[in-house]
Amino acid sequence: MTPPDAADLVAALIPWYRRHRRDLPWRREVDPYRVLLSELMLQQTRVDTVVPYFERFVARWPDLASLAAADEEEVLREWSGLGYYSRARNLLRCARLVAEGGLPSTVSELRALPGIGPYTAGAVASIAYGVSAPLVDGNVERVLCRLDARSEDPRGAGRAPLWARATELHRAAGDEIHPGDLNQALMELGATVCTPRAPSCVRCPVAAGCRAHGQGDPLAYPRRAPRRRPTPVRGVAGLLWIDGGIVLGRRPAGLLGGLWEPVGAEHPGGVEPEAALVAAFATQVGVEIEIVSRLGVVVHTFTHRRLTTIVYEVRGSGAPTPKARYTEVRIVSDPESVPLSTLARRILAVGPQLGLPLAAEGS
Ligand code: SF4
Repeated sequence: MTPPDAADLVAALIPWYRRHRRDLPWRREVDPYRVLLSELMLQQTRVDTVVPYFERFVARWPDLASLAAADEEEVLREWSGLGYYSRARNLLRCARLVAEGGLPSTVSELRALPGIGPYTAGAVASIAYGVSAPLVDGNVERVLCRLDARSEDPRGAGRAPLWARATELHRAAGDEIHPGDLNQALMELGATVCTPRAPSCVRCPVAAGCRAHGQGDPLAYPRRAPRRRPTPVRGVAGLLWIDGGIVLGRRPAGLLGGLWEPVGAEHPGGVEPEAALVAAFATQVGVEIEIVSRLGVVVHTFTHRRLTTIVYEVRGSGAPTPKARYTEVRIVSDPESVPLSTLARRILAVGPQLGLPLAAEGS
């Protein structure tokens, strides 16, 4: 079976998309800022998680100019819980760079902005400006790999041919079809029909030409080289209440930079976790603590690391001041008032006094 013809695919896909596309807030009013914001939020994150974040964000900062004037801490706080905070910081940097002239329309100019890769540039250029720019995100990758029954790993040797195939579809679409519709149709098919674990081939508009479906084994694609298992890492964290507030430290630039967290540390073993926590409080915030009780354990996976953190309630003496690890330390009565990483939210949720909802695992 030869790979399906590009023109046939486009002809089947576009009417299906027009009939079945979901009513999502960023589709109701299309402008470059809203496209960029939605695409950044949607990276690594599910649509139903993103919708309330997106709506709060645009209600507060309806355009690039208002966002450009925002304080970074406020932006991170609105992003809090979505994870991958470099996206929020880069968005703010973009807004400040282009606030006056607006976002550029070409892929190359968009890619010159902080945090905008080929996928996001293709989305903004095609959806907001109608530029014929292909894109390959996780959904498109899966759909194209299955349609053509591709034997190469799309994250390795199969990457370039996949972009070439996406480009071919755009060429086949010609001037009649909005390039943003074509990209969104492919993404929508992957998100709602050709899903990772349960593709619904009976509902699929391109099933007739699909090679993986023809082979009776869509789940065999995309083909992937085995992944490296995340490295296990151990950590400790302490919940220290002073005058009704909890002690939080603000991380410096870098991983989770600018976000707040309870005091803690990774510990490589060979040291009792309680001793590691006592040392962490002394070196990071200058407070002598004693352990009150062990509250629980939080297991959190970053891209390549699986961090198992034991959470303790502690009491201590002395005024907390920022030392080695933090740029700032505060005693916070409402932790929701500062931007927290997802990991910090999960650690705080172990402390029943705070009444925080448990956050899902993620970065
Ligand atoms: S026929 Fe099945 S495997 Fe092929 S694109 Fe459609 S849903 Fe995916």
